[in-house]
Amino acid sequence: MSVDALVRADIAAMAGYVPGEQPSDGRLVKLNTNENPYPPSPRVVDAIRAEAGPALARYPTPASDAVRERAARVYGLDASQVLVGNGSDELLSIVLRACVEPGQTVAYPVPTYSLYRTLAALAGAEIVEVPAPAGVVPDGLPATDARVTFLCTPGSPVGRSLGRDDLSAYADAARGVVVIDEAYADFADGDALELVDRHDNVVVTRTFSKSFSLAGLRLGLAFASTGLVSHLAKVKDSYNVSRLSAAAGAAALDDVAWMRSNVARVRATRERVAAQLRDRGLAVEPSDANFLWIDIGHPTSEQVYRGLRERGVLVRYFDSVELRHGLRVSVGSDADMDRFVEALDQSL
Ligand code: PMP
Repeated sequence: MSVDALVRADIAAMAGYVPGEQPSDGRLVKLNTNENPYPPSPRVVDAIRAEAGPALARYPTPASDAVRERAARVYGLDASQVLVGNGSDELLSIVLRACVEPGQTVAYPVPTYSLYRTLAALAGAEIVEVPAPAGVVPDGLPATDARVTFLCTPGSPVGRSLGRDDLSAYADAARGVVVIDEAYADFADGDALELVDRHDNVVVTRTFSKSFSLAGLRLGLAFASTGLVSHLAKVKDSYNVSRLSAAAGAAALDDVAWMRSNVARVRATRERVAAQLRDRGLAVEPSDANFLWIDIGHPTSEQVYRGLRERGVLVRYFDSVELRHGLRVSVGSDADMDRFVEALDQSL
């Protein structure tokens, strides 16, 4: 018997999402998955230690109330407008599970975060991908037909922000849910959070994985109207966020100043390295995120990716027609980036 026949035909046929590599070789300078080079707040570590005892015998509060309340305070919303997830990836998938039936439309501009395609395929959705330059909400998105539209700002892999007015106009035109994925918003000058109060169909997602230095924890936030959050909450696992994660997330939100100071360091390094690369004549897009997109051209890009790897520096190369002309490089510490630039010079 073929096990392929045991699963849904569309699942059997699909490749599955391939996340950026997490190498076991700790000596590699890891600039491939946009993690933060600096440690999380010591208050986070203390909170995890404090929770790591007898309390673990009990289930966590289903809605992660401590995180929700803090998030409401930090972001100026009501706690009923906050949904806490096991990473923002889980929140994206919750939105699709709650809103999209097989055959209904999910739309997004491309290139973008490649997980959207996998999640939409898992939902059995009709996928509409509209090519668009970085930083633009394209006219061709099917605002009336899409049950869910994903708009990533700042976008990955290029790092440009979408204009708040453009986002708002799209939300006005849309008859479905508009997910504004702000995984990298803390590294930008502005954000679109205020749209949550202005549009009942907007869901803004954030993550603790980047600016808060907690990718290993798995914690994300979704902000939306109270009514929409109450529906989304129905499809999440009852205890989707562990006690350790909830304690850590609450402590992280009690020490936002720590996050902001790390973000300031990353932004300063980003600008320094972007200028260095441009001085070498390389095409580096302006970035509002914690990564840089360097357009090197195909197939040089792949050769440079391999050259960097041989020299101990891991960056992200996307083997697709739309993206294989460039490399995405996460902004690490100054020392990491100096090693990157040196290895790049040798690889070029
Ligand atoms: N959105 C975007 C655009 C991302 O790049 C990522 C990280 N890969 C995520 C969401 C998911 O973040 P999390 O770690 O919170 O699941």
